[in-house]
Amino acid sequence: MRKYLIPNGGRFYKVALHTHTTVSDGRLTPEELKDEYKKRGFSVVAYTDHELIVPHNDLRDADFLPITAYEIAVADGKWGPFTKCYHLNIYFKDKDTALSRTFCARHVSSKEHMQALITDEMRAYGTESREYTKEFIQWLVDTAREEGAIVSYNHPVWSLQDKDDYSGLRGFFGVEWHNSSSSGIGMIDAIQPIQDLLLEGERKCYPLATDDCHSLKDVGRGFVMVKAERLEYDDIFDALDRGDLYSSTGPEIKELYVEDGMLVIKTSPVKKIIGFTDHRHTLRKMAGEGEYITEASLSLETFIRNVGLAPEGRMPFVRMDVIDEYGRHAYSRAYFADEFLNVDGIRKNANN
Ligand SMILES: [Zn+2]
Ligand SMILES: [Zn+2]
Repeated sequence: MRKYLIPNGGRFYKVALHTHTTVSDGRLTPEELKDEYKKRGFSVVAYTDHELIVPHNDLRDADFLPITAYEIAVADGKWGPFTKCYHLNIYFKDKDTALSRTFCARHVSSKEHMQALITDEMRAYGTESREYTKEFIQWLVDTAREEGAIVSYNHPVWSLQDKDDYSGLRGFFGVEWHNSSSSGIGMIDAIQPIQDLLLEGERKCYPLATDDCHSLKDVGRGFVMVKAERLEYDDIFDALDRGDLYSSTGPEIKELYVEDGMLVIKTSPVKKIIGFTDHRHTLRKMAGEGEYITEASLSLETFIRNVGLAPEGRMPFVRMDVIDEYGRHAYSRAYFADEFLNVDGIRKNANN
């Protein structure tokens, strides 16, 4: 029986999850941003201006969906070249959201055009101040989730963060492994923070490639492909939340399923297809010199045996890494063994 890891139904929509406009410090207006992304095949743009929730539902058309969101920052003291910070994007389930308890008027830039957007209601509803502590960051994530939002953890490298800063935090739906704005200045993120959080037992923590677009040069270099039934706010939001997605800086993943003990993946022409796990085992297919591959059928035999050997409380996972000739990646999310295998049966066999 075939078990689809990325759903077979619906269609892929190209999503920009991290953008800034003239509402905060971006160069493009919300309309210009929409036009530039549409030109590059995007159907969805999350507007994540700094510290201000400004819905752009007026930009909705038959082929374009704006997502209501914002980016919040918590810095460790006075800003300078050595200051560590957390940047989180909060994506709201309700497209008309204007108020959030995570809002903090004191964190809005002193720029006149931004101050002008703060209302008394926003001030009263939001929080008085923010603290650079993990407890406070966890409070922000939990509060956003109570408000029906999903939260991403952005550009750890630019934020000068390491494992001590994110280990133990719970409830991110995604973490950026690519941020075009950061990588544009040579601060290149990695997949490791996602692997680390998965190893701590977080099941979501989807891999996100975003532009953090501040100007035209950032547009369309990192993207998320979401599989959804329709281009409707709820459909797209729920597909993101469920993890019906992959992210990429170039290559495409067209299909991903498990059938008869094989993991099958179909892609655009690439050089390497790797199934990376939580343990010392990979599933892989590599193209020869001058060749390209567009699919792989990878035996799950060893993976299944390892599931039977896994320590108590450990649920092995596999996540796909697809690499093209330019070294660009597409990452799937992690699929835990109990999503596509009869884990109880495997363990019972292993013990007999
Ligand atoms: Zn940021
Ligand atoms: Zn940003």
